[in-house]
Amino acid sequence: MATMQGVVLPGNSTVEFRDLEVPEPGHGQVLIRMKASSICGSDIRAIYRAHLGKGPEGYQPGIIAGHEPCGQIVKVGPGCKEFQSGDRVIVYHISGCGVCEDCKHGYMISCRSPSRSAYGWQRNGGHAPFLLAEENTCVHLPDSLTYVDGALCACGTGTSYEALCRVRLGGNDRLLITGLGPVGLAAAQLGKAMGARPILGVDVSPARRQLALDLGLVDEAFEAGAQALGQIQAVTGGRGCEVSIDCSGSPAGRLLALQGTRPWGRCVFVGEGNKVEFDVSPLLIHPQITLYGSWVTSLKHLEDLVEHLQRWGVHPEDTCTHQLPLKEAARAYELADQGQTGKVCLVFDG
Ligand SMILES: [Zn+2]
Ligand SMILES: [Zn+2]
Repeated sequence: MATMQGVVLPGNSTVEFRDLEVPEPGHGQVLIRMKASSICGSDIRAIYRAHLGKGPEGYQPGIIAGHEPCGQIVKVGPGCKEFQSGDRVIVYHISGCGVCEDCKHGYMISCRSPSRSAYGWQRNGGHAPFLLAEENTCVHLPDSLTYVDGALCACGTGTSYEALCRVRLGGNDRLLITGLGPVGLAAAQLGKAMGARPILGVDVSPARRQLALDLGLVDEAFEAGAQALGQIQAVTGGRGCEVSIDCSGSPAGRLLALQGTRPWGRCVFVGEGNKVEFDVSPLLIHPQITLYGSWVTSLKHLEDLVEHLQRWGVHPEDTCTHQLPLKEAARAYELADQGQTGKVCLVFDG
């Protein structure tokens, strides 16, 4: 039996390597040679620093981490209907029961069956040279997109796409983004492609604000703090943005997203964790704002995203500031943990 080394996260801000067998695909499964496996904010928040996640975010110790996998199929098990050896694929990172209402809508993320398992959380993920995946969680990666593009779509960019579709962002809208980490950068990239103008970003980190400006993804990047709301109002005629999205997951970021939403506008929260407290009448009811929550995406919308990226000529990889080999996983996690970079991605040779 061939063996390989993969990354596990003990939950004390370190990375460990574990030996495991290269798996054989069973019925309806494929074996994928990993090409890119990026790090998501959830990996840092719920696993790397400490194993804080519960339920769907409960990390099972010893599981190979990485829930943004992208690679090339090298072996297909019996009963596979769509994919073949050689196909380039993104892995939708949750394997649901396949038969519940949520799964039938493609939202395996929301599956409540005990059999639901997420790659990198409850079943082995992408931080190893090979990944065993269910065929029904694979999405074709077009030739015009890179493996790093695909990895980013598997969670972060997919999450942004879902949220912007949920709030029906379009060319009539101004877009406010609180939090310019990888998900916020993806929201800016997609928002721009969808025609939103201008795009305003807010972040605590000067490096992240500068990155968003350098990439040409935001028209303004404001420092988080008491002055930010006034700056948003100053560039929107005192009204705020028609659409806002919180990607910070911080109480202050959420509040600012809501405050910076124009009356009758739409606000969506995707940044995870924490709480928010606000005066409901003046900030939500009286300005007639619709507030959404949005969690990851569906298989269908992941396919839609890939199709649109291809048509738009947009590459999520542009927001990836650090690509490191698997053996430098410890460094990759340190970088992602510092919250000053764009996306960090593990990449594989060949
Ligand atoms: Zn994620
Ligand atoms: Zn299900």
